[in-house]
Amino acid sequence: MERYKWNIKRLDTQSLNKDHVLLGLVGNAEVDTPMSKSNGSTSPFSRRKDTRLVKVGKIEIGSGRSIAIQSMAATKTQNIEATVNQIKLLTEAGADIIRVAVDSKADVVALAEIRRRTGDLNPTISVDLQENYRLAAEVAPYVDKIRYNPGHLHHHEKSKPIKDKVAFIAKVAAAHNIALRIGVNCGSVDPQKLLKFGDDDIGAMVESADEHCAMLENLGFTRYVVSLKDSDWRKVVEGNRRFSEMRPNVPLHLGVTEAGMPPEGIIKTRIAFEQLISEGIGDTIRVSLTLPFEDKGQEILAGREILRDIAAGRFRSVPPNFDEGLNIISCPSCSRVENEAFIELAQDIKVITKFAEKEDLTIAVMGCRVNGPGETDDADIGLWCGPTGVNLKKGEELVGHFPYTEIIPRVKTLLDETISEKS
Ligand code: SF4
Repeated sequence: MERYKWNIKRLDTQSLNKDHVLLGLVGNAEVDTPMSKSNGSTSPFSRRKDTRLVKVGKIEIGSGRSIAIQSMAATKTQNIEATVNQIKLLTEAGADIIRVAVDSKADVVALAEIRRRTGDLNPTISVDLQENYRLAAEVAPYVDKIRYNPGHLHHHEKSKPIKDKVAFIAKVAAAHNIALRIGVNCGSVDPQKLLKFGDDDIGAMVESADEHCAMLENLGFTRYVVSLKDSDWRKVVEGNRRFSEMRPNVPLHLGVTEAGMPPEGIIKTRIAFEQLISEGIGDTIRVSLTLPFEDKGQEILAGREILRDIAAGRFRSVPPNFDEGLNIISCPSCSRVENEAFIELAQDIKVITKFAEKEDLTIAVMGCRVNGPGETDDADIGLWCGPTGVNLKKGEELVGHFPYTEIIPRVKTLLDETISEKS
């Protein structure tokens, strides 16, 4: 995978706080974060106030409000008990907004019951739609926000213009008095934009987001936020900077997608957030980490700690060689994970590839077929999980489909081959 050699814009930490210190990265439940605690009040940190205010249930995003912290239920949505427990766990950790994946009518039925059973917690729920945009109409009564991915709107009803599909989603959102998120991912960006921009995938991502903003605004719908994500923190920083210059009034949801496991996943995210939030860019955040379900609250704690440190001017010093060596990216998992063995697999990959930690290679481990095939294309070695086995790729080529019990030695062999080819 190509490594991008961009300059990190130097932070003017002096103007924020004289105490520039190195920090631990582990979340701390005792941490009190003015930036996230008092949603509805203004933050003490100098933030852009020119983004418009977007209400998501009881949470207010943008216009200088405190930065809302989000996470996503990783359990299968139809496993109602487990998803209710995820929502409780994330609420207790302090999540402002909790996202749930919905891919089918059965997921919508489950979500209605989940909403009923979590009524006492009154969570602010966002739903993640991927290919089936028409589910917006069914899910809207149970949620406060819908996220759609512009790169996935072409899959269904191929002959229908994208703007008609966006108009459908916007009409549903307006009728149910809920917000939207235009959620662009570099790894699943609109194929038309990729054709136009070639290697400049950041340009493709930014134009896709801009185009969807224009579609919504032409419809008179302004209650939306935008996210531009990638697993490479540099692309997140650059994409959000470019977009923010183009549309300074649109609130931004920040995140490094598929950041991987702690501590590396937290470090990548921290670097991106430090760069952007210190410039006043960003109105809500998610830290995406590959974690066992019962530990998902760490995403919230890590996000809160990063915000607290930025607010206090305590920036992490990043060694110049931080990005050298083996880069393992893995998705944070969600309801779409095909087999829960995914999380253990991601952890095992990290252990068995330790011998190659100095190699300048990327391994991507993804949980499902929705984003797995596309989001592994740029990696040297890619794995994406199916119900009974794992698809192993070398670059964009499929090497084979192997049972979970056989995948580890296959990866090791492929890694050995890849290293010797490179040398
Ligand atoms: S790759 Fe699939 S399982 Fe992983 S977070 Fe993305 S949609 Fe969910």
